[in-house]
Amino acid sequence: MEVNPEKREKLKNFYFSIKDCRKCSLGNTRMNFVFGGGNSNAAIVFIGEAPGKNEDLQGKPFVGQAGKILDSLLESIGFVRSDVFIANVLKCRPPQNRDPEISEINLCKGYLFKQLEIIDPAIICTMGRYSTRLVLETDQGINTLRGKVFRIGSRIIIPINHPAAALYTPSRLQLLKDDFIRIKTVFDKISQRGLQASGKEISIDIIPAENISGQALKSVDLQTAQDSGKISAGNEKKEQENGRPAGAEADKKVPADLKNVQGGSRQLGLF
Ligand code: SF4
Repeated sequence: MEVNPEKREKLKNFYFSIKDCRKCSLGNTRMNFVFGGGNSNAAIVFIGEAPGKNEDLQGKPFVGQAGKILDSLLESIGFVRSDVFIANVLKCRPPQNRDPEISEINLCKGYLFKQLEIIDPAIICTMGRYSTRLVLETDQGINTLRGKVFRIGSRIIIPINHPAAALYTPSRLQLLKDDFIRIKTVFDKISQRGLQASGKEISIDIIPAENISGQALKSVDLQTAQDSGKISAGNEKKEQENGRPAGAEADKKVPADLKNVQGGSRQLGLF
């Protein structure tokens, strides 16, 4: 993946403009702000939920056990982290890895959208419930949406389980492997034919995102009181949905490695 100095500079400047954010209470409890990392010119952006314990300690996304699974899935389709960009819906860790609150998502989501605007990826891969609901503007569950490919404008959206789901439900690893093969198929076709490739050309059904029913996550701006600040989990088990259950057992297996992410693009994990 080629480096784009202009995008890298924009992303770096954006990082410095928001890294001290305290718009929500998570800014007071975090160890480190986790901006995200990878290629500022990536064709694929992966979006998770929020930093966990290790991410909070290191200031980097997906550095725990879930990150190892993500790395191996990327490797399985011939990619490394510096080929893609990885970010989260929230930039700061919710205490005890609790679910993000809607008020937090609404305060933080603009940062993610700005990152997407700068990187301008052809493919957005949402990992788990929160990023999928935010990007596709639906309250449908990830288990309903994964396995399908959506389009918003010229951009392709591919919802998958959060990699951590495989830690708790091993059968999900095969689903993730299947999903990564689908991601690679779409990526290859787009690379060959340009962003305007239709579903027919890709040999995969591509569903216009506006055809998804369900309530848009962003519309809950007006419903925080009614929802008591929580996104409905529906009937699906949390670990199956977002793969990041409270307590983050996965994180406990990885020794803490205190690092900060100040400085230039390399130190920020930007390529
Ligand atoms: S979670 Fe987002 S909105 Fe809240 S303090 Fe962190 S960067 Fe700011």
